[in-house]
Amino acid sequence: MVSRTTDDYERMALAGCVAITEPAFWAGFDRSSSQGFYDYFHQLTNTEPKRAAQFGINHHCWLCINPKEAEDTGFAREVISIIPEFLNEPTVLGIGEIGLNKNSKNELLILEEQLSLAEKHDRLVLVHTPHLEDKLKGTMLIMDAVDNTKINPERVLIDHVEEHTVGAVLARGFWAGMTLYPNSKCTPQRAADIIEMHGTDRLWINSAGDWGPSDPLAVPKCRLELASRGHHDDTINTISYDNPLEFLSKSGRFAVE
Ligand SMILES: [Zn+2]
Repeated sequence: MVSRTTDDYERMALAGCVAITEPAFWAGFDRSSSQGFYDYFHQLTNTEPKRAAQFGINHHCWLCINPKEAEDTGFAREVISIIPEFLNEPTVLGIGEIGLNKNSKNELLILEEQLSLAEKHDRLVLVHTPHLEDKLKGTMLIMDAVDNTKINPERVLIDHVEEHTVGAVLARGFWAGMTLYPNSKCTPQRAADIIEMHGTDRLWINSAGDWGPSDPLAVPKCRLELASRGHHDDTINTISYDNPLEFLSKSGRFAVE
């Protein structure tokens, strides 16, 4: 929530949110030096937990260089070399959101190096799948890259799944995430459709709270959408609470108390 005001933490707390996880992501601009990432990682591991705690929310994060800034491999490696220094901060769940943006060769190289980092430190992985280029192809490339490591797919969340990728992700043993947006990408209504088609096993929803049009309350809105369609509380709680809790607890560092 580094790009939001604390009003959003307050609104989330009022809506019943007890814990959040924030991935390292593109800030809306390319950072000019690896030092910019050092400050960003400090903000994610140090400042944000304190801001969230003021509203009774437990804040956790993921660290990485995002695929959008990974095209320059020399630069990306400088950033990767900083990550171990922060990995033992108590609220860091794992490596993410790594993945692909344009499915380029360099992005894939840096993805593989960050998977090695997760493997070496036995950490969970959060994956971003491309919106721009072919999403299905990108998703397949990412799953193949994970399969080339010793990382268990049960310790990887593939985010931004859509109707044409969710089946393959679940079939290969990964967890599947739907990041909800108010107008673009996956809306609460579309997520409800996907849940109706694919069930609730290893599938869950999360809110985007970034620098563009996004809505930290998208999760409660999707819960409302499912309730209005007549779904049981069990289903609604599974995709918005139980499943995230089960996956994130594998980190050994996630708490909702
Ligand atoms: Zn993403």
